[in-house]
Amino acid sequence: MNIHEYQAKVVLREFGVPVPRGIPALSVDEAVKAADELGGPVWVVKAQIHAGGRGKAGGVKVVRSVADVKREAERLLGATLVTHQTGPHGKEVHRLYIEEGSAIDREYYLSALVDRATSRIAFVASTEGGMDIEEVARTHPEKIISFSVDPATGFMAHHAQQVAHALGLSRDLAKQADGLLPRLYQAFLAKDMNLLEINPLVITKAGALICLDAKLGFDDSALYRHPDIAALRDPTEEDAKEIEASHYDLNYIALDGTIGCMVNGAGLAMATMDIIKLYGETPANFLDVGGGATTEKVTAAFKIITSDPNV
Ligand code: ADP
Ligand code: MG
Repeated sequence: MNIHEYQAKVVLREFGVPVPRGIPALSVDEAVKAADELGGPVWVVKAQIHAGGRGKAGGVKVVRSVADVKREAERLLGATLVTHQTGPHGKEVHRLYIEEGSAIDREYYLSALVDRATSRIAFVASTEGGMDIEEVARTHPEKIISFSVDPATGFMAHHAQQVAHALGLSRDLAKQADGLLPRLYQAFLAKDMNLLEINPLVITKAGALICLDAKLGFDDSALYRHPDIAALRDPTEEDAKEIEASHYDLNYIALDGTIGCMVNGAGLAMATMDIIKLYGETPANFLDVGGGATTEKVTAAFKIITSDPNV
């Protein structure tokens, strides 16, 4: 499950991670009120959708007056943002985040994720912040470092040093990284995340290391342990059929094609989709009902599949 940036920043703040001050807004009035409360002189109006690349698509605007906050809020609320992560149909903006503007000196990339190859939490860092990390990996792989953390020792000082070195941080900033990185690791573990991406991590002109953007993903199988996180779910960001499927513990992913698939076992489900593609058609969904599927599960799965008008 994914959450919005403004929610992610609340979660990170709980762990003592430095993030800018900000207030979410669901209407233009709330946006203006938030701007007044934050006080300026620089604000950032940020569209809240479950997709990155908002900046390039006009979904993140730095402004210098409350009037401009109002204008941007009017423009963005209800608008459809198309970013390189939304697909061609884009996503409609229902929520905004009004944030204090930071004077940025440098932008970096930092993320943590579950590395299945090592069964550990891995960190990825790069000097090329604010950019599409997949693009950096293609064009400048040498500018990306990564390492994994041994769960027996947890996050250690040498890990933070490795990041500080890779980013070329001065002594004072390295010290801040020393405080920040273990907190990110703690948050990742404590909340059963599967992705924590800070892009960009920035150094401000005043010399502070802060997280300017935050994307958090959580392990669905562990959500039952985190009612506080589960409550952050935004159903308007998800496929209704996928939400319904999650209630029945079905591994269901909606796709664009026309042939509905009901399969027991993820490997067989993948092979079935391959065969459909091989014969020139496209699957309407991926669905693994699991090995021990019950009558109830299969019934629910049939209903979900047939509720898709493309099938
Ligand atoms: P996205 O990744 O979806 O494009 P970001 O939150 O990373 O959205 O914002 C895009 C860019 O906007 C950042 O790389 C940064 O340069 C700028 N930005 C975002 N938040 C702030 C802020 N609070 N103050 C100043 N600039 C910001
Ligand atoms: Mg970003």
